[in-house]
Amino acid sequence: MLATGVRVPYDARMLPAERNPQQNPSVEHNTIARGSVVTLSYAMSCDGERIEETETDEPLVYLHGTGALVPGLERALEGCAIGERLDLVLGPEQAFGRSDPNKIEYLPRSAFPADAELELGMQFGAEDQNGDEVAVWITDIDAERVCVNGNHPLVDQTLRFEVEVLAVRAATEAELEHGHAHEEGAACEDEEPAGGACGSGDCGCHE
Ligand SMILES: [Zn+2]
Repeated sequence: MLATGVRVPYDARMLPAERNPQQNPSVEHNTIARGSVVTLSYAMSCDGERIEETETDEPLVYLHGTGALVPGLERALEGCAIGERLDLVLGPEQAFGRSDPNKIEYLPRSAFPADAELELGMQFGAEDQNGDEVAVWITDIDAERVCVNGNHPLVDQTLRFEVEVLAVRAATEAELEHGHAHEEGAACEDEEPAGGACGSGDCGCHE
């Protein structure tokens, strides 16, 4: 079940006028497709141990179709409706990928500012060879050197995801342009949206 990126629109004439999203953009958009803003609750487990879960008052909100979630989860959510629950076990390829030794680099401690408080597990942003911002983690450290690892800490893991779809709505134009969800009615919070160029000053987060 691969997402093709092309969705055949359903026949709008089959719906009464007030349910036709083309005529009434405020109408509920209630199954997940590319361009949906989805609210989820989820729990993620590894080896039977729950390692992450959303709080009831702090669900996850994301823009579907942008790779915001691990690929297997985003694919499984395609076409799901509000209230639907999924219980998935995803192998590494469908979750955080396989460990790549090329993403592991040892740097001298002196490559970091002397006053930087570096510790094991610390995450920060770095630039890759293409100049793109990537997340890296410190996975080894001593007085002389620091291991900077671009592999996600959950790489190579098989993970279980228990998910409930709490809400689905159509993304706004600004959200589609920025490539991320905005809190409903709120200004954009992302300092540097994915892709860097949003072109719109609407959200106040870009110059
Ligand atoms: Zn934004």
